[in-house]
Amino acid sequence: MDFSFNADQRALRDQIIKFARKELNHDVVERDAAKTFPRDLWLKCGDMGLQGLTVPEEFGGANLDSLTTAIAIEALGYGCEDSGLVFAVCAHLLACVTPIWKYGTQEQKERYLPDLCSGRRIAVNAMTEPESGSDAFNMRTRARRDGDDYIINGVKTFSSNGPIADVAVVYARTDDTKGYLGGITGFLVDKGTPGFMPGQAFDKSALRTCPIGELVFEDVRVPESAIIGKVGAGGPIFNQSMEWERTCLVAAHLGKMERLLEKSIDYAKTRSSFGKLIGQNQAVSHRIVDMKVRLEAARLLTYRAAMRLETSKAVGLDASMAKLFTSEALLETAIDTVRVLGGYGLMTEYGAERALRDAMAGTIYSGTNDMQRNIIAGWLGLSSM
Ligand SMILES: Cc1cc2nc3c(=O)[nH]c(=O)nc-3n(C[C@H](O)[C@H](O)[C@H](O)COP(=O)(O)OP(=O)(O)OC[C@H]3O[C@@H](n4cnc5c(N)ncnc54)[C@H](O)[C@@H]3O)c2cc1C
Repeated sequence: MDFSFNADQRALRDQIIKFARKELNHDVVERDAAKTFPRDLWLKCGDMGLQGLTVPEEFGGANLDSLTTAIAIEALGYGCEDSGLVFAVCAHLLACVTPIWKYGTQEQKERYLPDLCSGRRIAVNAMTEPESGSDAFNMRTRARRDGDDYIINGVKTFSSNGPIADVAVVYARTDDTKGYLGGITGFLVDKGTPGFMPGQAFDKSALRTCPIGELVFEDVRVPESAIIGKVGAGGPIFNQSMEWERTCLVAAHLGKMERLLEKSIDYAKTRSSFGKLIGQNQAVSHRIVDMKVRLEAARLLTYRAAMRLETSKAVGLDASMAKLFTSEALLETAIDTVRVLGGYGLMTEYGAERALRDAMAGTIYSGTNDMQRNIIAGWLGLSSM
């Protein structure tokens, strides 16, 4: 498979890297320490079209195919040193905008997509609950039909962008007799809808500029027109949004790995010990070689998954392999960067310890890596979930 970039993809990559370096990287250490969401930079990302990369132009998007979307997100991950902001953009685009774009009614697309693509509104994907994470479809949140409306009750947790969100893509059980297929429905719930409120906001060690918290639904009445797709279609819709996340969100990891690789090479070529450059020690150079090999392997898996995202019936397998391998590769690369930098690797201003904290999160969100292995085992006929 040839993944050489065409002229448009090269230009887009260069444009996003230049934008990110110029606009998004000031005060990252301070922002991360203060755990502040940079709304002004979020809006700049919106002006760049990042929150609507995949969406057709008529709804305010950039209309990119899935491989070009991954290339754009990789460029953002490379250029932007604030991984929390990158994650906030990706979670919004891939887990919230995607289901509306793919399954929303014309009215929903017209109503939501332009503001979500421009960043004027922020979306949250609300699936995980305090008692159901990996077994997400074992949720307690319920939506009960009442005349022409639905009444939603439940609590969602670990909702990225939740504390600042204007609209929630929330999944609720609508038929207790059915499971993932037929029993779950996705709804769009606007901020300000009576009974819908933010719960506890969490303090976390990774991706600290992306706020995360609980969302509470107490007798939240929504019209039938708030349903995404149709009643009972929530399971497959959520799974498809996870396939987009597992493929395109990890594209940001590729960019981060490239940045960490460059940082390690620079350091190994300038830091001396015992009268020679540390990179002249095989222990150090081989560590950096492994970073390079992991990056290129992760890139091939991710690009292939991205290329197949809209065409292959086996994309679930491709997406899980890309997510599993690339997030582990990033974590290993972050650990190795700290090692190459020695004591400086743990000093905040060098960025490596932040990269390590952020990388750990990638092994958990979008389904833990244990769950990705379960999915892959299922494809190999070895086990079910
Ligand atoms: C930074 C971050 C952002 C997130 N953003 C969102 C968001 O925007 N929206 C949202 O809905 N959720 C979000 N999540 C939640 C995330 O999807 C869950 O944390 C994840 O699915 C795991 O669920 P859990 O935390 O309840 O762990 P559990 O499911 O309780 O798992 C605990 C441990 O047991 C393992 N385990 C559980 N079941 C199995 C099994 N069958 N086989 C093997 N191992 C198993 C897991 O791998 C894990 O190691 C986010 C999480 C993080 C960390």
